[in-house]
Amino acid sequence: MPETSRRPHLLALSLGGTITMTASAAGGIAPTLGAADLVAAVPALAEIAEIEARSPFRVGSSSLTLANIAEVAAEIRAAFADGVDGALVIQGTDTIEETAFALDLMVRDDRPVVVIGAMRGPQQPGADGPANLLAGAIVAASPEARGLGTLVVLNDEIHAARYVRKGHSALTSAFVSDNGGPLGLVVEGRARLFSRVGPLDLPDLLPARGATADIDLPPVALVKIGMGDDGRLLPALPGLGYRGAVIEGAGAGHVPGVMAEAVGALAGEMPVVLASRTLGGPVFECTYGYPGSEIDLIARGVLPAGLLSALKARLTLVLALKAGFPREAVAGVFAAFR
Ligand code: ASP
Repeated sequence: MPETSRRPHLLALSLGGTITMTASAAGGIAPTLGAADLVAAVPALAEIAEIEARSPFRVGSSSLTLANIAEVAAEIRAAFADGVDGALVIQGTDTIEETAFALDLMVRDDRPVVVIGAMRGPQQPGADGPANLLAGAIVAASPEARGLGTLVVLNDEIHAARYVRKGHSALTSAFVSDNGGPLGLVVEGRARLFSRVGPLDLPDLLPARGATADIDLPPVALVKIGMGDDGRLLPALPGLGYRGAVIEGAGAGHVPGVMAEAVGALAGEMPVVLASRTLGGPVFECTYGYPGSEIDLIARGVLPAGLLSALKARLTLVLALKAGFPREAVAGVFAAFR
């Protein structure tokens, strides 16, 4: 076979999730299958790529940690250094919007990293895992998917890691991208990209490797604001060991006026980032001027998260703090998402 027609080489890493879950003696379903089992169940994959299957974790995705994902990112980077053409990460859907974005921050390669999962277990009628695995491999092996960072592929839709979120607890169409929709689709065995995202203009945020499994990441609190909240939780955060906080404000990034002083006091002690609980559109920076508004909070030292959701802003802040960035550099990281 001439060298030009070689099948792309992909690395598939499974971390667990519904896609790997079969009936458990304890009731319900639990992770049992590994990447090799999943790949073997979809013979059509052999036409797409040569796949090396590894299974570093077998957990429900709510048990994954950012340290686990840093390990996965390091494994993918090592495989890319060895010449692999793309990577597939197979995991639970509950935290895909976070893990995919964390991989985006930590892998930083032109070659595609595609995260997939399934909403139905492999023993359920209409199981979507095999189709998602095939579609994910098609995207990971596709030259058109290069330069887009980490992608999430489910339900034949291709989403950018920085915009995707799980928007439904049950449907196979659970994944949405609020600001602009999916980048493309997998149709008739081909990745069709309708739009593209630019490269992330950020420093490399992969934590320095040592004993990566024991990696010690600074805790960042996530505080969602509800109507009438008086902010009594905020002064407790430094004493609990938090090194930063993300406030998920209402609307364009607002908190009750009675909370504004506590937010400002916290921002004097640690980086505080402001995101919006609306999940679509950016946090504002220069429109509203009342107590607790974005202008007020920014003047008190809070950093706007731009288009990042609070979940993604939290991961970004953890990695920026781990990198030891001073305040201006942390602000610069978030400015990249405005
Ligand atoms: N419901 C989840 C899933 O779709 C379970 C998990 O995230 O592990 O995979």
